Amino acid sequence: MPALDYPPPLQRLIAQVRTLPGLGPRSAERVVLWLLQGGGRVEPLVDALQHLADRVEACGECGFFLERGQDCVLCRGPKRNPRLVCVVEQAADVLRLERSGAFQGLYHVLGGKLSPLDNVTPEDLRIEPLLARVKTRQVEEVILAVGSDVEGEATAGYLNDLLRAEGVAVSRLAQGLPAGGGLDHADELTLYQALSGRRRL
Ligand SMILES: [Zn+2]
Repeated sequence: MPALDYPPPLQRLIAQVRTLPGLGPRSAERVVLWLLQGGGRVEPLVDALQHLADRVEACGECGFFLERGQDCVLCRGPKRNPRLVCVVEQAADVLRLERSGAFQGLYHVLGGKLSPLDNVTPEDLRIEPLLARVKTRQVEEVILAVGSDVEGEATAGYLNDLLRAEGVAVSRLAQGLPAGGGLDHADELTLYQALSGRRRL
């Protein structure tokens, strides 16, 4: 007799939820069972996911999110300095830096960092669009606001070589960020100081 398992639709959803970051098989199972308990939990989630898929896209320039059909407030903001571009790993880092109030330039979301162990190569990141921006716009300085862990340092070194070859100044956030951590571990004042005290590479 085959071992008893959940019906296939449940198995399928558990398999999907397992692919989400931070969720192992047990927590994926717990999430799915919770959704099915009580009633009324599935539809709002389906609705929100559908709305997300229909309405939200990434800006082709900076990589931050915007509602389809609307201008990117970060790229098109009238008070932003187009000569400065700040490179971050994730869209969430843009919000952190914006809240620190330290930066008035443009952003560029890489979508991750180089990590051979996780099979993340330069082709997986938004590096080509970054080079295209530097080549076609009046960018004078690129600030590498990637984390100070091993992968972040490797990413910064790789980008520094490429960007310097394009004749643009490259700088790195000052010390003060948690060693080995990303921007998500820093408070706003620390971010402000790290940006103000950035050093040229
Ligand atoms: Zn944008």
